Amino acid sequence: VRATRGGEEVRGYVPSMGQMFLRRFQMVTQFRQALEEGQVSVHYQPKVSLPSKQVVGVEALVRWVHPEFGKLDPDEFVPAVEAAGLIGVLTGFVLDQSLARARKWMDEGLRVSVAVNLSVRNLADEDFPAKVRQALDRFEVPPELLTFELTESGVMADPQKALPILRELHALGIVLAVDDFGTGYSSLAYLRQLPVDEVKIDKSFVLGMGTDLGDLAVVRSIVELGHSLGLTVVAEGVEEDIARDQLEAMGCDVAQGYLISRPLAEDRLEAWLQARTARSAGRHTETVLTL
Ligand code: C2E
Ligand code: MG
Ligand code: MG
Ligand code: MG
Repeated sequence: VRATRGGEEVRGYVPSMGQMFLRRFQMVTQFRQALEEGQVSVHYQPKVSLPSKQVVGVEALVRWVHPEFGKLDPDEFVPAVEAAGLIGVLTGFVLDQSLARARKWMDEGLRVSVAVNLSVRNLADEDFPAKVRQALDRFEVPPELLTFELTESGVMADPQKALPILRELHALGIVLAVDDFGTGYSSLAYLRQLPVDEVKIDKSFVLGMGTDLGDLAVVRSIVELGHSLGLTVVAEGVEEDIARDQLEAMGCDVAQGYLISRPLAEDRLEAWLQARTARSAGRHTETVLTL
């Protein structure tokens, strides 16, 4: 689309650079207020063990319903918030919400761990481990029920700074996972150096494994690599029965994806868990998924 305004040619690529900039600017300046006004919430997506189908945990995924822009994609606003130096605020919010949930489930006799995504900048904050420890104390949640997911690019951006912080978090007893594995310059050597417990196969490979032999080979090799390093292997983006069956046959430990459930708001997750929980008498509650 082309138009002229005051003799000057205006290229109508929508949205324009100016609009994009303005939108981003609004996001970062309005973020704190959005938190206060309840526009931001956390949804949770279940992770189930293969082959037992037990719910082992949930991943916390931030959501923002903006009054003007509508539902914002975290892939858009998280980087904006991060660039504006507000990632500590966002992570703090998601962490508090998640730990409050974990505490509630514990009170109900459920053992469901909660995974929170971290950004590069969280790993540049020397006080981050202390803040996390305080939050765990405040909600009285044991550290092994908390997982942090980090991308390899996040760690590799500044390993000198990130590594000591990761070691501190790990020493607290928090579970550490490498997210979106296989997309960056992942290597065996790199994975060995990190104090991690879990590796999450990027959903692009899992989504493609039914039709693309290359994707299938990548998935298979990550499962083997992960197991040879003693890690729990999680597949994200499990949408089809076939993918779940293939993953199970390969020995992949945990599955997450739309086949099991989409990310759900608190109350909907509660209902989902209830519907799939076979409660036995006493303290031992089995959360069994009927897939
Ligand atoms: P991620 O951590 O890799 O999260 C998985 C993404 O895959 C989520 O997208 C989830 O909704 C989506 N997903 C789950 N199952 C399936 C499936 O079966 N098929 C497909 N096609 N997609 C599936 P979402 O919620 O849009 O989040 C996108 C990314 O934004 C996350 O990727 C994460 O990197 C980031 N993010 C989300 N919440 C937070 C947060 O609280 N803090 C930080 N720092 N980043 C966050
Ligand atoms: Mg994640
Ligand atoms: Mg991922
Ligand atoms: Mg991602």
